[in-house]
Amino acid sequence: MIYMDNAATTPVKAEVLAAMLPYMDEYYANPSAVYRFAGDTAKAVRASRESLGAKIGALTEEIYFTSGGSESDNWALFSVCEERAFKDCHIITSQIEHHAVLNTCKRLEKLGVRITYVPVLPDGIIDISFLEKSISSDTVMISVMAANNEIGTIEPIADIGAIAHEHNVLFHTDAVQAFGHIPIDVAKMNIDMLSASAHKLGGPKGVGLMYVRKGLMISPFISGGSQERGRRAGTTNAPGIVGFGAAGDIAFKDMDRDREYVSGLRDRLIRGVLTSVPDSRINGSEIDRLPGNVNFCFEGIEGETLLILLDRDGICASSGSACTTGAVDPSHVLMAIGRTRSEAKGSLRLTLSSDNTAEEVDEVIEKIQRIVAKLRSMTAN
Ligand SMILES: *Cc1c(COP(=O)(O)O)cnc(C)c1O
Repeated sequence: MIYMDNAATTPVKAEVLAAMLPYMDEYYANPSAVYRFAGDTAKAVRASRESLGAKIGALTEEIYFTSGGSESDNWALFSVCEERAFKDCHIITSQIEHHAVLNTCKRLEKLGVRITYVPVLPDGIIDISFLEKSISSDTVMISVMAANNEIGTIEPIADIGAIAHEHNVLFHTDAVQAFGHIPIDVAKMNIDMLSASAHKLGGPKGVGLMYVRKGLMISPFISGGSQERGRRAGTTNAPGIVGFGAAGDIAFKDMDRDREYVSGLRDRLIRGVLTSVPDSRINGSEIDRLPGNVNFCFEGIEGETLLILLDRDGICASSGSACTTGAVDPSHVLMAIGRTRSEAKGSLRLTLSSDNTAEEVDEVIEKIQRIVAKLRSMTAN
């Protein structure tokens, strides 16, 4: 099997699993308990909070653990609107956000919140001047992703953060695809809130974090007990959090080396396919792009059919984002960059990691070439 769907999820690294296991059996205590036995677990949770915070220039107490990227996104958007009872409340976001942001925005609109969905340029980078012109007196937050999960574009979040703070508006970024893959600094980039998720960087599923700038008044999203300093109820997921910390340590330590290696594979795959498959195009910027992301459009091909045939050859890829697979609508991201409905349906996303090799890339190029040619000859007859 060749796994090229790392934007959907990644395998848990062996070192990460080893770090987690003791917190499922030996140190099973609830870290909120007072007895000394719980102290070891509480200490490990604190160490993860500290090391994950340090990776983005945040203080330990600015990191809140959640159940993942979706919850963090929901929390960020909901809480600022709830503070204003959903009235005189305007949020600016982009047309290419993950559904965790977009569908939360749709719910907020029903509650009376005004949302502006800023378009992107044909290369998938946000239209900054449109964004700045959208700011008005009732704007409370700008939420723009650090990197896109479908087409891998790296958005100019430092510029957006500067604009937000010039206008006294909060800035949230969904950094689920970026965290652990490219550098982020919450102070330099003027970020007030940031979402990240462990399973996109070699950690376990079901654990994420939200960075909340110190001093920011923000209500809890999950109410209940006083875990996470009263801002996120629920018994602490100690094994998950320890795994997240371990995955973060590895990802940040190896970041430079992995970026160089993985972007080399990416460029080999892009070049190989564009030169050998007629009527193929790359979606999203070729420059401001995540190291592991490749997204093609093949004229006249059904992406879903292509996926099924690739799967028969043992290749795991996706068409659009995992969340839209199975749905009939073409990807909102590909529509936003100006692809037609049929072009968007003929898209293929391959997302690489440091586990992939040049041999795998060459095999995938050859298989894509063969399958696309076969599908086209079938429709031509
Ligand atoms: C995967 C992903 C999410 C959702 O994260 P979960 O931890 O799976 O809930 C949100 N935003 C982006 C950009 C993602 O890629």
